[in-house]
Amino acid sequence: MPADCLFCRIAAGELPAHKVYEDDAILAFLDLHPIREGHALVIPKDHHIWFEDLPEALATRVTSCAQAIARGMKRIYGVERVSMFYTGIHVPHAHAHVVPMHHIHDVTSLEYLKDGPEKFSAPPQLPPERMARIASELGETLS
Ligand SMILES: [Zn+2]
Repeated sequence: MPADCLFCRIAAGELPAHKVYEDDAILAFLDLHPIREGHALVIPKDHHIWFEDLPEALATRVTSCAQAIARGMKRIYGVERVSMFYTGIHVPHAHAHVVPMHHIHDVTSLEYLKDGPEKFSAPPQLPPERMARIASELGETLS
């Protein structure tokens, strides 16, 4: 584990956190700067920088934990939806954000905000031939 990794230190118990869940491989704790009350982070205890590099079984455990937290958030906060996302921003140790969605733009993009915070704007569509090329290029990276 890198000695200077904040989340490795939290996972090792060297730094405090408001823990929500913990087992041998996974830790969930509250984000120190919550978008909404309950905003949690789910991390693998092992150090991996990017979510796409997580072993599949570990990624599944992070997702399963986030699902359980989401079901709890729906009960506690009465929200219709909970968002889960990886951004790779701030701490270079893969972490999934889990946020109860009280507003459509609690987790959003400038593209979706173009017509103001009460609207959910649809970004422009791309020409079909370009979409086909993009799908083909991405698909080729999977084979
Ligand atoms: Zn780490």
